[in-house]
Amino acid sequence: MIKDKVVVITGASSGIGEATARLLAQQGAKVVLGARREGRLQTIVSAIEAQGGTATYAVTDVTKAADNEALINTAIKKYGHIDVIFLNAGFMPTAPVSALKTDEWNTAVDINIKGVLNGVAAVMPHFLKQKSGQVIAVSSVAGLKAYPGSAIYGGTKWFVRDFMEVLRMESALEGTNIRTSTIYPAAVKTELLGGISDPRSALAMQKLYDQHAIPAERVANVVAFAISAPADTTINEFTVGPTNQAW
Ligand code: NDP
Repeated sequence: MIKDKVVVITGASSGIGEATARLLAQQGAKVVLGARREGRLQTIVSAIEAQGGTATYAVTDVTKAADNEALINTAIKKYGHIDVIFLNAGFMPTAPVSALKTDEWNTAVDINIKGVLNGVAAVMPHFLKQKSGQVIAVSSVAGLKAYPGSAIYGGTKWFVRDFMEVLRMESALEGTNIRTSTIYPAAVKTELLGGISDPRSALAMQKLYDQHAIPAERVANVVAFAISAPADTTINEFTVGPTNQAW
């Protein structure tokens, strides 16, 4: 059941996060949007409300623990509790290691790894108190296999896989009743390629995405499926990509 669930979404200002916010709101969820671009968040919340949905937002930089706590507190203050956190914010600085884009390496670690940790740290006390909760995180096919150009991005997404698998196991062992799902998208049409500053990598990825990328709504559907699973069931891992690719 999705109706009336309170769902916090990071990286909700575009792409997969935006599509998920819109879809879940259509299905009756109360969605709480977090990202840095306030104008985008306002526009999406207004559009959801215009269609009869329930939504709010908090400007959030996931690399800052205090912002994650403020996002969670916005949800609690407005809707009383949180059922799901969708840890989706991400940055993909595809480039060969030899390009030594060390600032981007650090940014990727901060957003893709520390952002996930900050989100979990902020929501966990509420989930433990209410003895239920669901954590859904976005890894990538680059978190399952190695791809040239993806040493750093892929590494952050491998982290997400390991972290989510251990969280799943510990939740079962500790009886915390926290469900986990991890999503491994392949090429999805979003703004993600805008983060690639290496010209050759950007061109190659654009070519690939022009040919094969699927709409963000496909991933949103998977998030909705994971949330609507019965409360005693954890649906653990999904790979989502175009039918005609071997990724
Ligand atoms: P987008 O670039 O469209 O969305 C990324 C989102 O993350 C934006 O809303 C952006 O918002 C947010 N974000 C980035 N940095 C921060 C930050 N520091 N704090 C808060 N929010 C932040 O790309 P996608 O929708 O594709 O990306 C969503 C997730 O999907 C990412 O984790 C990505 O790695 C993953 N993924 C995507 C694939 C694809 O092909 N598109 C494939 C595999 C995985 P803002 O800038 O407003 O803060």
